[in-house]
Amino acid sequence: MFLAKSILKQNQLNTIQRTCNFSLSSISAARKKVCIVGAGPAGFYAAQYILKHLSDCDVDVLEKLPVPFGLVRFGVAPDHPEVKNVINTFTKTAENPRFRFLGNLSLGKDFSIEQLRDNYHAVLLTYGADEDRRMNIPNEDSKNVISARKFVAWYNGLPGSENLNPDLSGDTVTLVGQGNVAIDVARILLSKVDALKSTDTTEYALEALANSKVKNVYLVGRRGPLQAAFTIKELREILKLPDVSTVWRKSDFKDIPEIVSSLARPRKRLTELMLKSLDEQQSSPRTSEKKFLPVFQRSPKEIHDDFIEFSVTELQGNTAIPTDVSEKFQTDLILRSIGYKSVSVDKGINFDDKRGYVVNKDGRVLQKNSQEGSIDKGLYVAGWLGTGPTGVILTTMNGAFGVAKAICDDVEQNFIDTETQKSGLDISDKRVVTWKGWTEIDKYEVEIGKAKGKPREKLIDIEKMLKIAGV
Ligand code: FAD
Ligand code: NAP
Repeated sequence: MFLAKSILKQNQLNTIQRTCNFSLSSISAARKKVCIVGAGPAGFYAAQYILKHLSDCDVDVLEKLPVPFGLVRFGVAPDHPEVKNVINTFTKTAENPRFRFLGNLSLGKDFSIEQLRDNYHAVLLTYGADEDRRMNIPNEDSKNVISARKFVAWYNGLPGSENLNPDLSGDTVTLVGQGNVAIDVARILLSKVDALKSTDTTEYALEALANSKVKNVYLVGRRGPLQAAFTIKELREILKLPDVSTVWRKSDFKDIPEIVSSLARPRKRLTELMLKSLDEQQSSPRTSEKKFLPVFQRSPKEIHDDFIEFSVTELQGNTAIPTDVSEKFQTDLILRSIGYKSVSVDKGINFDDKRGYVVNKDGRVLQKNSQEGSIDKGLYVAGWLGTGPTGVILTTMNGAFGVAKAICDDVEQNFIDTETQKSGLDISDKRVVTWKGWTEIDKYEVEIGKAKGKPREKLIDIEKMLKIAGV
């Protein structure tokens, strides 16, 4: 009872301090103020850790969109709803009274990094990777080429992507790249649309997929089966798709059966699965109308109106070297799936354009133009923005916990100034979606979805979201 009362008191105190924006410096040390930019997994996991380990700290999470969760909402495939359960953990974090969600605010547009640093003791950047890597080959911007990132955003309802209108009227799609994003896209293209109707795939995407004429999906990698970037669970899932035959090229697996037993375990299991599937294809070929066609050692060379030309590669160690030999693939649509890319949103950020991440040492951002790599005190980075665009949610969680620990250590050891009072951002003149606002959007989406047998029907229109959030 006493404990409950004192927690209540502390919460009331926090609320009063927050609303009145005044300091208690005369009777206690300054409350710590941390700002996290980006409400994806890295942002939420870092917030969770900081709130748990720093009791006198408030965390504000600034998010560009009116809705939270980053790629969990706009990347994770709609037919993988179990992956989205992490949202429950994020929601618990957001319900902490010391957490504030500030949706519809962009770093680089509504606020600068300098303003954030002036108003918080520590700023953690977790704004992810909003662009994609380019192949840098002739005619890459032709209308028959789109990025897998845009295609994923389209079926997942990212505001601004609803008018992509991918042309699915031809029978062949070629995916360049063999990561799990490429596998997700291939699976969505080859799935029966009925299997997607009970997911949160957007209505317009369901309609387009229902009318799709796509039958053949190539998945082309520049290296060999031993270097394939997809993982076993994702491959197994696509191999099991009803009414889809998988067609491997036997020549891609030359010499591989001999060395498979010497491979390290995850790679060994993945390779065994590919060999088993190749074996099945040869002993009892399936002749479904739809085909999944993985191809190895082909590096994109040039785009043409109705085909893509690849250089045949040779492997030197783990590196693919293009040869003079090439192969043309007739294709109606080309989807570039060679990785996402972070961008700099504020010139005050020490961003490595070539590598595409914020320059850091274990999450502590390094000073710009500093030869010795000195730490820029009070500025941190986590998630894909700090590591580059690879890693699953679990990897991102572990990284974010590590950086959050560094923040807590730096606060506790007075490595960063926490004596000066900081008040958090003044958002009085901004249209901000609070957590309460998001719960209104959430309720609305779930309600609309229910009528269609879907977990939710995502809102795409930002103005509508703001209206429902009461902004
Ligand atoms: P993000 O999730 O991208 O979050 C960044 C957030 O920052 C976003 O909300 C964004 O809107 C916001 N933001 C961007 N710019 C600004 C700005 N200027 N100001 C304020 N906010 C900003 N992992 C799995 O474990 N299982 C899966 O099934 C899976 N599927 C995936 C499918 C796809 C298509 C992709 C691309 C990834 C998938 N992943 C999956 C990986 C997982 O999504 C990532 O590991 C994780 O989302 C990275 O988290 P993050 O917080 O770094 O970035
Ligand atoms: P990825 O795993 O890094 O795969 C990128 C692919 O693009 C690789 O095949 C890579 O080949 C190829 N590539 C890169 N540059 C190329 C170039 N210039 N020319 C030709 N090919 C090129 O990236 P991703 O698929 O975007 O996935 C990102 C992360 O999200 C991964 O960690 C992934 O596991 C995760 N994710 C997980 C799931 C899931 O768990 N279901 C779903 C989606 C994404 P090389 O290997 O030769 O470089």
